[in-house]
Amino acid sequence: MKSVNRRNFLKMSGATLIGLTCGSVALRSQAQELLQTSDPTAQALKYVPKSEVAGSMCSNCMYIQGNEGDENRPCAIFPGKLVAADGWCSAWVKRPG
Ligand code: SF4
Repeated sequence: MKSVNRRNFLKMSGATLIGLTCGSVALRSQAQELLQTSDPTAQALKYVPKSEVAGSMCSNCMYIQGNEGDENRPCAIFPGKLVAADGWCSAWVKRPG
C-alpha cells in the first residue's frame, strides 16, 4: 500500500515537472519580438503593420496564431516574431470559418 502511494506521488511529481516546463516555454514564447518592416522576409512578403487591403488582415489570416483580440500575435510564416493583428502580407490566406 505504501509503495503504491509513493508511485502515485512520483507520478504527480513528474506531471508537475512537465507542467512547469510547458509553462516556462509558454512564457518565453510571449517574449517574442515585433516583426519589423525592415526584416528581409517581411520585405519579401510586403508585410505592413496596417493593412491597406480591405477585408484582409493578419487577424483573419489562416497563419495567425496566439489569442484572438491580442494586438500583436505570432504568425506561422514569421517564426519567433509577432505581427500586428491589423497587419498584412502577401502570404495572406483567408482563415477558414
Ligand atoms: S501570413 Fe502575413 S497576413 Fe497572414 S498572419 Fe502572417 S503576416 Fe499576417
